[in-house]
Amino acid sequence: QAVSPAASQVPRYVRVNTLKTCVDDVIDFFKRQGYTYLGKAASVEELKALSGKKFLLDLHLPELLVFPAQTDLHDNLLYTSGHIILQDKASCLPAFLLGPAAGSHVIDACAAPGNKTSHLAAILKNKGQIFAFDVDPKRVATMNTLLTRAGVTGCQLAQQDFLTVDPRDSKYSRVTHILLDPSCSGSGMVTRGLGQEAAPSAERLQALAGFQRRALNHALSFPALQRLVYSTCSLHQEENEDVVQAVLQEWGSAFRLVTAFPSWPCRGLAAFSGAESCLRASPAETFTHGFFVAVLERCREGAAENP
Ligand code: SAM
Repeated sequence: QAVSPAASQVPRYVRVNTLKTCVDDVIDFFKRQGYTYLGKAASVEELKALSGKKFLLDLHLPELLVFPAQTDLHDNLLYTSGHIILQDKASCLPAFLLGPAAGSHVIDACAAPGNKTSHLAAILKNKGQIFAFDVDPKRVATMNTLLTRAGVTGCQLAQQDFLTVDPRDSKYSRVTHILLDPSCSGSGMVTRGLGQEAAPSAERLQALAGFQRRALNHALSFPALQRLVYSTCSLHQEENEDVVQAVLQEWGSAFRLVTAFPSWPCRGLAAFSGAESCLRASPAETFTHGFFVAVLERCREGAAENP
């Protein structure tokens, strides 16, 4: 199979599942398998230059190892036993930037197949509560398997339309963090061999953006919410900056955009004032799949008077 130039630039990222192991033990395991460990990367260019049986620790994310693009670890014991998760670097940003403290109550609104949920569980150290929802029964079944393999406990997974989840239900009264990674056009996904999908039509983009806006609005209505991450694997402004801008406008001064990861090189498109607080990712600039992340926080009452 021919691999597209974009795909050949994206390294193989390996997230160490800290619910089951630690970074040092995984590094030792790969060394015993004949890989050479080159230490922590100093620049993104180093990630791109990797070749052969060499690997690095990522420079941005603490539990992420980086292998050359061609590395296939699907049969590796560490993967089949849930000790490592094969997850693109950009897709590790949402849970990392949400960063709930251990013990928090968190909603993962569109959760399947669950890579970000298992990342959240690792950040929570399995302490606290995750309420995970997905509308698709097959994807929920796959997610159950994945979460069990990853050693996730303290996660209530429901096959349910997130838009029908009642924010006033006392079950969710302590939910302070929400991760919203809704269905999108997927236009940022780099395909490893099949060529690029056709661009989505204007009608499809409009329909997706409509759902994304409704889901974001719904998420912001959870009464104890403090921090929310909105993410997509889309390159389209309609599904990204435009959604965030429209919903923030509806909420007036109740929520604000946080400048996430100031050292991240690739920022939101200048669609509105402050959009550079958002993050973007792309094969050309960050050597990842194409991605968008926005971090929103509830404004404290009187914060303007008491900075
Ligand atoms: N966060 C997931 C992960 O990291 O593994 C990927 C989520 S995927 C981009 C979007 C998911 O949203 C799909 O699994 C889809 O079934 C689900 N979805 C779509 N509409 C939904 C709704 N109304 N309520 C809950 N889930 C929904």
